[in-house]
Amino acid sequence: MKRREFLKAAIGGSAAALCAPVTAEARPNLEPAEEAVGMLFDSTLCIGCKACVAKCKEVNSMPPVRVKGKEQWDWARDLSGDTLNVIKVYKDGKGEMKDRETNGFAFEKRSCMHCVDPGCVSVCPNTAMRHDKRTGIITHHPEVCIGCRNCMVACPYNVPQFEFNKVFGEIRKCQMCNQAGLERIDKGQMTACAEVCPTGATLFGSRKALLAEAKRRMGLMEGEIYEYPRGDLANPSSPHEKKVPDYEQHIWGEKEAGGTNVMHIAAVPFDKLGMPELDERSAASIAEGVQETLYSYLALPAIALAGLVYVVRRNSVEDDDEGGPS
Ligand code: SF4
Ligand code: SF4
Ligand code: SF4
Repeated sequence: MKRREFLKAAIGGSAAALCAPVTAEARPNLEPAEEAVGMLFDSTLCIGCKACVAKCKEVNSMPPVRVKGKEQWDWARDLSGDTLNVIKVYKDGKGEMKDRETNGFAFEKRSCMHCVDPGCVSVCPNTAMRHDKRTGIITHHPEVCIGCRNCMVACPYNVPQFEFNKVFGEIRKCQMCNQAGLERIDKGQMTACAEVCPTGATLFGSRKALLAEAKRRMGLMEGEIYEYPRGDLANPSSPHEKKVPDYEQHIWGEKEAGGTNVMHIAAVPFDKLGMPELDERSAASIAEGVQETLYSYLALPAIALAGLVYVVRRNSVEDDDEGGPS
């Protein structure tokens, strides 16, 4: 092949690669599963009793976090390999009034939000994090987990935790009480934390019904008495009567990062309760869109190379025909 032809073909191939329409487009967010289940945490109902924390540990066979000299309590202050659900406290000033931003205090639950379009599932290279298409529950499968900890980085809520205190540690997170061996949801039961919550602050149900209940609460008059359902919204136990607080008009998880199956409402702004600022677009939808584009882009040099090979072969044949040097 003559040098000029080689350059022409190479430049042509590169130009084809560069001119091809390469756009990094995000795929749309995933939609909530038709039969998605979840929980509604109403911060204004939470009294900080931590019955949900203790019950979560009991059903997941996890030990309490101990502090020397105070062995009678679980001192878990954040999620860890031993704590899948924790109640955190917001406090301002002297913390005199419950559910007040100024000089007040409020409780906030931390556990897996069971994202509708989960980042942890999207980045897992070995399908150890799985999204149940029917219930929307995100479960972790240690038998195929390679311990890369991508899920820990991809979660906007810092939920997956690694058991650093064990020789053969695993990733741990709330699996909505539905992992192999527990399967409360598959058996028609509610989550353990919702079952023991005395006030209905943690309420179990279908995502659709919980979202409707949250919207109903947003529309209630401050100060009126409302009968708050407890336990399972589809079959609630005796209601908890309480005056309606001055709710923030924001249902956390309705839209954040594509939505979550565990939703929160509160009377204190969510940034004060430590929730991250998130776009409505899920990170998974953007990342998977870019990934697909990159793969198509990587195909273009291969196409250009195929073109070069074709030109080389054609010229070799022509040279042979002309009886040139072999
Ligand atoms: S059991 Fe209910 S009231 Fe008690 S800490 Fe948990 S969410 Fe709050
Ligand atoms: S909150 Fe984090 S761990 Fe839970 S489903 Fe969403 S991304 Fe995954
Ligand atoms: S759903 Fe189950 S695992 Fe998740 S926080 Fe509640 S009790 Fe713990």
